Amino acid sequence: MRIEVDYGLCEANAICVGILPDVFDLNDDDELNVLAPEVTPDNEELVADAVRQCPRQAIAVVD
Ligand code: SF4
Repeated sequence: MRIEVDYGLCEANAICVGILPDVFDLNDDDELNVLAPEVTPDNEELVADAVRQCPRQAIAVVD
């Protein structure tokens, strides 16, 4: 399973960065980067939190 972000929806408000800073990052141009797209047993609960809390529903977990 891996994380996909719909960059057309993302408004770069960094809520996901606050939840998982090792996975999500905003660059100097305020663009979101996914540093580590793999969902692991260690981060799956926090990934689910990020999916739920993204106000733009821009984060998905796909096979
Ligand atoms: S929480 Fe959603 S809208 Fe905000 S930066 Fe992350 S993906 Fe983009």
